[in-house]
Amino acid sequence: MYVNTLIVGAGPGGLACAKTLADHGVDTLILERNRTIGSKVCAGGITWSGLIRRVPATLAEQSFPKQYIQTPLQNICIQEKTPIIATVNREKLGAHMKSLALKAGAKLRSNVFVRTVKKQSVHFIDRENKTEETIRFENLVGADGSNSTVRRFLGLRNTCCGVGINYQIPGNSTKMEWHLNNRLFGNGYAWIFPHTKTLSIGAYADKKTMSSGKLKENLIDWAHTLGHDLNPHPAKAGLINFDYQGWKFNHIFLVGDAAGLASGLTGEGIYPAIVSGEQVAHTIANPTHDTGIMDILIHKHNQHRKILTISNKSAILNSVLAELAVLGLRSGAIPFSKLEMAI
Ligand SMILES: Cc1cc2nc3c(=O)[nH]c(=O)nc-3n(C[C@H](O)[C@H](O)[C@H](O)COP(=O)(O)OP(=O)(O)OC[C@H]3O[C@@H](n4cnc5c(N)ncnc54)[C@H](O)[C@@H]3O)c2cc1C
Repeated sequence: MYVNTLIVGAGPGGLACAKTLADHGVDTLILERNRTIGSKVCAGGITWSGLIRRVPATLAEQSFPKQYIQTPLQNICIQEKTPIIATVNREKLGAHMKSLALKAGAKLRSNVFVRTVKKQSVHFIDRENKTEETIRFENLVGADGSNSTVRRFLGLRNTCCGVGINYQIPGNSTKMEWHLNNRLFGNGYAWIFPHTKTLSIGAYADKKTMSSGKLKENLIDWAHTLGHDLNPHPAKAGLINFDYQGWKFNHIFLVGDAAGLASGLTGEGIYPAIVSGEQVAHTIANPTHDTGIMDILIHKHNQHRKILTISNKSAILNSVLAELAVLGLRSGAIPFSKLEMAI
């Protein structure tokens, strides 16, 4: 079996890439290990500018012109005229992006697990039929997330990774909250992101500053002080790769978390996955395509990583920088968009 471009992974990165390739008339197949497209450990927060540029606003569950941010010394609310962030349901986002990719002419096989990657072919297991197959390709796109098999084939290690823990619990709120506290969440933060009839309560931190076990323990204790008992609910955790080392390796490409393009500072990864997926597709369809948009995304990513590297130098420095950043947001000296990956 042969296909021009094979994409491993039907997350936002792989689906955006598939749609754009199919729009260009490129013969494209996506292989996805899950039966259902879209389910992913995630808080579902997407910056408004990213949402309205790449996702229909009708997919937003709630949108928030106000952001409540708390540190040990400050408790602020910033407000803009238009929403700053919205929440989306990942299954609905996946279903929407899948329908666009299929409508454009891309093919998708779900419930198939890519086990081995070679230079011109991949070997995968069809979990439905319990059969094994090999497929050859001209171009390969690794859109298979933070633990990417394609990335491993390229010999790239993940030395910079964040860990995110999410609880999706029943509840109603219109208040989007961020809580920064180095003692509890290392150089990361805890969040409360309201969805329709549920709340995403979770925490994110660079793995170098806090273990996932400690982060979970602190998250449960902290949520309890706000009146949320997380214990009866299942915790879901995932890694967020921000170790970007390149996206084009001859005829093999990486997008989204597989490329390490999520923000190490905030854990924002949906928007970078979509943008990088589209840009890789344009490059495959037209090798002389202007890579300016990808360059801006990488520049933003690197800025976030530099701030993180400085703040990782000590817990005190991290706490001081967090207080200064919140002071900057409060005074308007730092626009919230500075923290966004949207370009
Ligand atoms: C707790 C948590 C909260 C988060 N909250 C947010 C948030 O609020 N906002 C935000 O922007 N980002 C958030 N993120 C990050 C975001 O989820 C990711 O950055 C984003 O999903 C990356 O998209 P992607 O397409 O690159 O990869 P993914 O969404 O991970 O998709 C990869 C796909 O590849 C498939 N796959 C993997 N291996 C194989 C294989 N061997 N064979 C076949 N298929 C395979 C997977 O099943 C998956 O469907 C969060 C992450 C975590 C862990």
